[in-house]
Amino acid sequence: MSAVKKDPKGIVFNIQRYSVHDGPGIRTVVFLSGCPLSCRWCSNPESQLIHPQLAYNRNKCLTFDQCNRCMEVCTAGAIQTDEENRARINRGTCTKCMLCAEVCPSVALKVYGEEKTVAEVITAVERDGAFYSRSGGGLTLSGGEPMHQTQFAIAILKEARRRRIHTAMETCGFCDTEDLIAAGKYLNFLLFDIKVMDPQIHKMVTGVSNQLILNNFKAVREAWPELPILVRTPVIPDVNDSREAIRAILDFITDFDKISYEMLPYHRLGTPKYEYIGNTYQLGKAKLDESVMAELMAMLNDEYGHLIPVNKKSA
Ligand code: SF4
Ligand code: SF4
Repeated sequence: MSAVKKDPKGIVFNIQRYSVHDGPGIRTVVFLSGCPLSCRWCSNPESQLIHPQLAYNRNKCLTFDQCNRCMEVCTAGAIQTDEENRARINRGTCTKCMLCAEVCPSVALKVYGEEKTVAEVITAVERDGAFYSRSGGGLTLSGGEPMHQTQFAIAILKEARRRRIHTAMETCGFCDTEDLIAAGKYLNFLLFDIKVMDPQIHKMVTGVSNQLILNNFKAVREAWPELPILVRTPVIPDVNDSREAIRAILDFITDFDKISYEMLPYHRLGTPKYEYIGNTYQLGKAKLDESVMAELMAMLNDEYGHLIPVNKKSA
């Protein structure tokens, strides 16, 4: 692992306050840009690249009848009018200067990702400190993949712990093993995604093999045996929405200590963002049948009930 710089900066694409889904209690989730995976169902496509990205929501454009500020500032000639007299971005000629986003009055143009220091992140997190102490919550690092900006992520966790803020991190597990173990030193809670056990399917739907991920899961469990780990699986139609696929994950984790498990049903909330950043959503009109999810939940309850987090157990 490389040395941690004194005051590292990194790219943050969102800071979400009052989250109750990303670790214990009420939390502020800090989303870091950059991810080594490209999951077909990704609901945060704006998180995949490590550098800031220009986003354009055509529906918010005021039309060139009322405004042409973006075209005026774009020296690259990357902005034209479309058939409804709204802006059209030519991403092939765009130089990513981001000036258009600065002048757009309707926020049709905006930038995903902003450089921040550790101090700026911690200041944002500490705004809600009173809620944390009452609820048992704190800071959760998410992404993207937080370990993709290793020095920045570890520096945030270290400073948060120094200030007695409860720390959690959501990881896809695809990162340097030593870095993940180093981060574990400053963690109170770890959320670890295991998407599918079959290595070929994993590579097909995420772009990478799961071997490093599974090895890292074992390594972090071994290095930090007291660290509570919540394994999470996004249940995706035609990828892992079968008893066999979920059972393979449960059988892998069931013998480790201090592990709990949660399934996250597939949703499509992130699909408009693909168009905003000029990408195409790869899962088309995929839909997760409610009865399939119910069947998987029943199996989890009946056969692996000890893995269900205490606060999620049915009465
Ligand atoms: S500056 Fe914004 S509102 Fe104005 S034309 Fe460009 S995209 Fe539309
Ligand atoms: S970010 Fe791209 S489209 Fe916007 S002003 Fe700069 S070059 Fe033009």
